[in-house]
Amino acid sequence: MPDLTTIGVALSSLKTSMDIAKALKNSTVSLSEAEQKLKVAELISSLADLKTELADVKINLIDKDDEIKKLKEELKDKDIRIFDGDVYWKEVNGNKEGPYCPTCLDVEKLSVRLHKEGPGWWCKKCKDHFGDKDVLHFNFSDFKRNKF
Ligand SMILES: [Zn+2]
Repeated sequence: MPDLTTIGVALSSLKTSMDIAKALKNSTVSLSEAEQKLKVAELISSLADLKTELADVKINLIDKDDEIKKLKEELKDKDIRIFDGDVYWKEVNGNKEGPYCPTCLDVEKLSVRLHKEGPGWWCKKCKDHFGDKDVLHFNFSDFKRNKF
């Protein structure tokens, strides 16, 4: 897994490349054509290593961006989520919001509001159904008095 070590290796390859290029530029004695070709080959090899290492760093940064995005999504409403034993509620500015589908929140980390239809409450995403007694028993005021 690419990490700070990879960046260190990449910087080392960059230094090697720069040292070779400087040696070529500052050479006071004229190098033979064979010596020049050898130095250029070393330079190309070092630059190829650098390119590979930077590609690993890029992949690592993309993976980290994805992980940060995922964690931010999970954190977005984690602290204000309340599970009453049947469904989820949220506390927003001191008020109760919801109910939210426990199946979608637990499995897919999605806050999907339940909709009242007929004798119960439905999730429009997973089609889970909850009876009125499952949803209406939660007393938010009692919960706040005891928990907050
Ligand atoms: Zn659902």
